Amino acid sequence: MSCIEQKTTPSQSKVTNHLDHNPFEVMEPRTPGRTPVDRKNGKPVKANDIPPQGVYLPNNNILAPHMKSPEYVQLSTAAAITLGIMGGRMYGCECTRCLNLLLTYPEGCRANCAYCGLARHREADRDYADRNFIRVDWPAVPMADIIDIVAKDPENSPFHRMCISMITHPRSEQDTFAVLEQWTDRIDPDAIPVSILSNPTTMTRADVQRTKDLGADIFTVALDAATPELFDRTRGKGVQSPHKWSKYWEVMLEARDIFGPHKFGAHIIVGMGETEFEVLRLVQELVDLGGHSHMFCFFPEQGSLIDHLPATPRDQWRRVQLARYLIDYRDARVEQMRFDDQGRVTDYGIAKSELADVIDEGIAFRTSGCPGKFQDDISACDRPYGDSPPSNIASYPFQPKKKDIKRIRKQLDIPVAVE
Ligand code: SF4
Repeated sequence: MSCIEQKTTPSQSKVTNHLDHNPFEVMEPRTPGRTPVDRKNGKPVKANDIPPQGVYLPNNNILAPHMKSPEYVQLSTAAAITLGIMGGRMYGCECTRCLNLLLTYPEGCRANCAYCGLARHREADRDYADRNFIRVDWPAVPMADIIDIVAKDPENSPFHRMCISMITHPRSEQDTFAVLEQWTDRIDPDAIPVSILSNPTTMTRADVQRTKDLGADIFTVALDAATPELFDRTRGKGVQSPHKWSKYWEVMLEARDIFGPHKFGAHIIVGMGETEFEVLRLVQELVDLGGHSHMFCFFPEQGSLIDHLPATPRDQWRRVQLARYLIDYRDARVEQMRFDDQGRVTDYGIAKSELADVIDEGIAFRTSGCPGKFQDDISACDRPYGDSPPSNIASYPFQPKKKDIKRIRKQLDIPVAVE
């Protein structure tokens, strides 16, 4: 039985920004609308109770089947293509190196983060399993099927890492443990290490410890917003969402204790209204604590509360990407860098020749995240086109080529040296 629904996301009028950065005043989220009672908490999916049959591909005209973690998880389109569950090709890459999993429930995530395609306000017009997230669809797949495929030959798997993304849901912790346990029962975490993208709002220190005891390698916290004000505006009271900056920091510091140096970190989205100085000061703080930052370029996710706002201008993004790489991997410090009166980087605080070498190497402009098997500063989590279209790449999911570096230099306003 299936039921055709007209679930639509209204299109919003766009705010344009002709500046070379996204200032705080421009980046104001919309207020979430009211959700009709009959759409709340995944009611239609639970009431119709359609049994799932294998893989479910997001389809906004079909009522989603009743799928729940830990039996079911969602995975990124890139991971589904790499696993062979979905057909398709990705510009510039043969596969993704990270198996990104997302817990799934008919009620979906109970938070309402302004930039997120999974946010609660979307239940008004889209079942949870049909929501786009970081620009792509997330097919729902039985966890046992994923494990069966990967367990055939973990040593030679294209995946260098697996990551479980928790969402804000009362079952999130227990199901994360269950998914992790299922995985480590069959797959040696030394062959494919596991990262946890946590949901601090509902977590205790004992929960963090449990993920470590069950075999997780790296624990990350999605701060996403670079300052407490921005956090509150985009993830807290500003959008009727439950998250608190202080709780996120509390859990991140627990992770630092439990997982140790270089085994914890924070996600940060660049261009939601913070200055370049503010985000780089945070990057430095994380490095000083022994952790890493994993960066995303803000992209207005369709259906989110800020889908009418401009994506981060490429010059702002490139400056932050480059400076962050220097702080994380080249021992540069934010105090040595110089900023203008709007907080934009004007000097990276290292010799011009060294800067030129780092730019030409190109690694600074690749997607950042938990490492894979190539080298420490190359992320397994390459999230192909999660923060930009292939026509104007923000985070390169592959090693940038000469023509890409030329473009990056233009965006940075650092011309190619004439020899
Ligand atoms: S908690 Fe995570 S998944 Fe939920 S709305 Fe916020 S960013 Fe999205």
